[in-house]
Amino acid sequence: MPLTVLSGPSGVGKGTVVEAVRRRHPDVWVSVSVTTRPARPREVPGAAYHFLDDAQFSAMIERRELLEWAEFAGYRYGTPYDPVREVLAAGRPALLEIDLQGARQVRAALPQAQLVFLTSPSWAELRRRLTGRGTEPAAVIAARLDRARVELAARSEFDVEVCNDDAGRAAEELVELVRNPRQRLG
Ligand code: 5GP
Repeated sequence: MPLTVLSGPSGVGKGTVVEAVRRRHPDVWVSVSVTTRPARPREVPGAAYHFLDDAQFSAMIERRELLEWAEFAGYRYGTPYDPVREVLAAGRPALLEIDLQGARQVRAALPQAQLVFLTSPSWAELRRRLTGRGTEPAAVIAARLDRARVELAARSEFDVEVCNDDAGRAAEELVELVRNPRQRLG
């Protein structure tokens, strides 16, 4: 059973879609990433992330325990390799939710992995999500929009796109792909 990677521009709602997959489809194994980011208020350690300090994260890199890792908004995020190996060996459908830098590393390490790009219904919608309540400085918002533009251009590197018009619907489409991956054309 091949591996599926969900990625896409920041702000597109990857976390919400994967949360819906976890809730509705417990048979689909979802990787738990390690991160140096502090836990947010309602985040349970070990649920979506294992929270590590910098030294612990560096030790995992040195021991080559990560399938991929990347720095994002000042913190490091990575995928522990052993659990992925075990799940794939057991033939269970497996899903990773990672940023674009990580998706490229998985493509290099495991060329047979299926890469799914989560898109927004429109640029206007993505812009609305990224600007949020508009309480942040204009320069911060402008930087986010610039990055989203660059990230959207990466869609051609992916095997298939799923539109996040509704998180529940997108989760169902994603699970279908996880169970029946699109054949890569090479
Ligand atoms: P957040 O801090 O909002 O939970 O996640 C920030 C970004 O890190 C998101 O784009 C998310 O997809 C990405 N991310 C989460 N886990 C991993 C991981 O293990 N590896 C990589 N490369 N990115 C990750």
